Amino acid sequence: MSQYIDGARAESLHGRGDVVRDPSNGDVVAEVTLAGPEDVDRAVRAARAAFPDWSRATPMERSTVLSTWARLLEERAEELAQLESRQAGKPIRLAREFDVPGTIDNVAFFSGAARDLEGHATAEYSGDHTSSIRREAIGVVGSISPWNYPLQMAAWKILPAVAAGNTIVLKPSELTPLTSLLFAETAGEAGLPAGVVNVLTGTGADCGSVLLRHPEVDMVSFTGSTRVGRTVLEAAATNAKRVHLELGGKAPFVVFDDADMAAAIHGAVAASLINSGQDCTAATRAIVHRSRYAEFVAGVADLFQSVRLGPTADPETDLGPVISTAHRDRIAAMVERAREYARVVTGGAVPGGDLAGGSYYQPTLIADAGKTSEVIRDEIFGPVLCAMPFDDDDEAITLANDTPYGLAASAWTRDVYRALRATREIRAGCVWVNDHIPIISEMPHGGMKESGFGKDMSSYSFEDYTVVKHVMFDITGVARKPWHRTIFADPTS
Ligand code: NAD
Repeated sequence: MSQYIDGARAESLHGRGDVVRDPSNGDVVAEVTLAGPEDVDRAVRAARAAFPDWSRATPMERSTVLSTWARLLEERAEELAQLESRQAGKPIRLAREFDVPGTIDNVAFFSGAARDLEGHATAEYSGDHTSSIRREAIGVVGSISPWNYPLQMAAWKILPAVAAGNTIVLKPSELTPLTSLLFAETAGEAGLPAGVVNVLTGTGADCGSVLLRHPEVDMVSFTGSTRVGRTVLEAAATNAKRVHLELGGKAPFVVFDDADMAAAIHGAVAASLINSGQDCTAATRAIVHRSRYAEFVAGVADLFQSVRLGPTADPETDLGPVISTAHRDRIAAMVERAREYARVVTGGAVPGGDLAGGSYYQPTLIADAGKTSEVIRDEIFGPVLCAMPFDDDDEAITLANDTPYGLAASAWTRDVYRALRATREIRAGCVWVNDHIPIISEMPHGGMKESGFGKDMSSYSFEDYTVVKHVMFDITGVARKPWHRTIFADPTS
């Protein structure tokens, strides 16, 4: 059954069938029925009904459920990794070593964070009142997630919401709903009350857009493309829902002339190919000092050729397919167009042989694309890195910022002043120095500019998933307050 509503697996009332396919070979992983408006309504009502009790549960009660959840996920780690690998076409090594442990750590982190919501000190700021801060849950969150890291995206959306006392209806991508369903089901087994987390398998048109507009949804949180993010903002405007948006990226990877070149080359290969480049923070624009440009391009091209494409179940496989043949064909078409204005140094082809049944694409390095060209401006979201040279530090920073996106960036240098300047001046939600990709539960993830706003992970996410209320108590006990002078001109009235 493809829905998880009110603490149980459920069939869709809508009933239109679909299949989840393994992108590495096209095999059917699961048959699903897609949710429609009636299912959205059922799930939102369940979340609404669960909200009063869950929002009043003590932080310790919420924390206890989350820590049991983390333990149960540990026990099912291999099952989760296998399912994630098959539905999303991830090499099993990536699923085992990155997606699943990262998710479990997030649950464990929010088990602690649930007990530590922050606010200013209660005090007599006016002199005549005691002011205090309540940090309250917002209500029912409607959340929509993408297919690239299905399990982690479900965790990033669900955890801060429920740790802070909200209830949630999550619609994962219809291409990859299976681990989100298992994740939610495990929460129920851990003791999360029915209705606190609901998961709907459905399309953007029939399910997502209905969820965004449901009058009982108080907040929408979305991770996906900037294009769909705009429609989320429009939908939320109808009844002024709170919005949290994690959108696209086009991360610069800036290599200064003093960089450790071996580190930069290895870093660029790993950071551009992770998850077949389908990572919103992936290195996509290598901006390299002209004096080291040829060395960088040759080094990356060599390493790209050594990366092993293969079946995703094989632990030796480095690189899996992209999510679908349609997405692969879109990437291939962009690379073909790039041949007219840039140099495809390596890759740029669909592998045949044993891999022909999957949506694989070779690791591809494009050099010398102009700064207004398609591959430099637009998200490719595949195993493709573009390299371009710069002449001085000012130009490097300007090129890094020359994008509508602002999600992530990195600077490669041994000069502390250059590094500090890059971290200060590059407009992105995360700037790494001499690395690119690592994330950690304690630290926030989120963008600037057209990469969206709001934070996932870390206690900063509570700024999005809670509302701060000011409570002001009169402590004078007098009928005529000093400030009444503004309305009573006559001091005796
Ligand atoms: P997408 O925007 O096409 O879809 C994301 C989700 O929105 C899916 O669940 C989809 O079904 C749903 N959707 C589509 N149209 C909708 C509509 N009209 N109304 C409501 N819901 C709708 O994105 P994708 O292709 O699944 O994922 C790739 C994108 O996600 C990339 O742009 C990537 O950069 C971005 N992403 C961003 C982050 C981040 O943290 N900033 C993380 C992962 C992915």
